[in-house]
Amino acid sequence: MPGTTSSSNFATYLERNKQFAATDAKQDIPAIPFIPFRQLYIVTCIDPRVEPAAVLGVELGEAIVARNVGGRVTPSVVKDLTWICHLHENKTPDADWFEVAIIHHTDCGSALFADEDLRRSYAARGGYDDRTAADMAVLDPAQTVREDVARLHAAPELQASVGSFRIGGYAYDLKTGLITTVVDPA
Ligand SMILES: [Zn+2]
Repeated sequence: MPGTTSSSNFATYLERNKQFAATDAKQDIPAIPFIPFRQLYIVTCIDPRVEPAAVLGVELGEAIVARNVGGRVTPSVVKDLTWICHLHENKTPDADWFEVAIIHHTDCGSALFADEDLRRSYAARGGYDDRTAADMAVLDPAQTVREDVARLHAAPELQASVGSFRIGGYAYDLKTGLITTVVDPA
């Protein structure tokens, strides 16, 4: 029945959460202002097939994970990253932080932004800029991830933080399950 807890797709997760809360795992987390245990900021796609906990084995407290369609470096991603940089520089200046990992993947649904009819009707629906929507398409992950690493390096609001973090770019192949380094963060 719609509206009841038992019919919710989320009900399973409320149960799993009770199991989690009964363990000690919740205590093993970094304190505010939180520096993730692995000093990592991952940007990746919302596609459930690229879930970082499964594909990378990311565990609780290890990394900040930002996800959007395609795992693209959008103004929203830059805004959040700038906040974390700002926090770090003002609250934990002595910490050796951090590294950004941008991951794009094969068979990405964002490739459908390249479908003119679909994209134009989407842009019209939200009053979005058609060119911006077209730029969101990930057709070749190795190419777009390179563009997005460059986009982050060039972001004016992050210029003050240059040198305090590294940026890596990666391509995930859904067929093999393997991730290839496209831009070495070192
Ligand atoms: Zn995707």
